[in-house]
Amino acid sequence: MNITDTHTHLYSEAFDKDRSTVIAEAMANGVQRFFIPAIDSSYTERMLELKNSHPEHMFLMMGLHPTHVKENYKEELLHVADMLREHPFVAIGEIGIDLYWDKTFLKEQQEAFRTQIKLAKKHKLPIVIHCREAFDAVFEILEEEKGANLFGIFHCFTGSFEQAKSAISYNMKLGIGGVVTFKNGKIDTFLNKIDLKHLVLETDSPYLAPVPYRGKRNESLYILKVLEKVASIYGKTTAEVAEITTQNSKVVFGV
Ligand SMILES: [Zn+2]
Repeated sequence: MNITDTHTHLYSEAFDKDRSTVIAEAMANGVQRFFIPAIDSSYTERMLELKNSHPEHMFLMMGLHPTHVKENYKEELLHVADMLREHPFVAIGEIGIDLYWDKTFLKEQQEAFRTQIKLAKKHKLPIVIHCREAFDAVFEILEEEKGANLFGIFHCFTGSFEQAKSAISYNMKLGIGGVVTFKNGKIDTFLNKIDLKHLVLETDSPYLAPVPYRGKRNESLYILKVLEKVASIYGKTTAEVAEITTQNSKVVFGV
């Protein structure tokens, strides 16, 4: 099987003690492609090291995460722009709006999101959206920026069927992760009404571990639980779903 984890923070401190084991176990079980979202400039060096250690398997994104949009966000955005000139990246992410943790910097989050969408268009790259308690605010900006040159992934999609259809209308794939295995996750109730060509799989590790690991550190290996759940929702084999969602990830990222 060739499974693609489209969203994994493998450079996180959570993996400092056993990163190479975590990667080796995932690869031994069919997870071959790891897409690495950025958070802020403090992690850039670690991300580049990760890419160097497994150049064929790791694909890096560049961007400023909405929960890290603070007083210094303009400097951080300059770092993003500089890095895009210096290294190959496959997406701008993760970017977006998060009103769950803190609303103080909403205006700055909106500005950072717009600026990074423009960077994505300039570099002809997809965006990977982080949206928490912020669907209206995110859709407002997508509506302004929509067009053939705007495309990407709605990472960790947790919205309603209507919101899923909206996201797809803006050329976004839905990133499906551990939430699909949660009893109260809700997306499992309508997912089969959405064509599989719109889905990619992800873990968001070390966060959001699927059942039966819920609450523990998440790993790319656990994407198998997400894969099994999605396969059962669609009445397909895990091999079929791995194949289709990997193909979808290639369409988005171009690799
Ligand atoms: Zn993330």
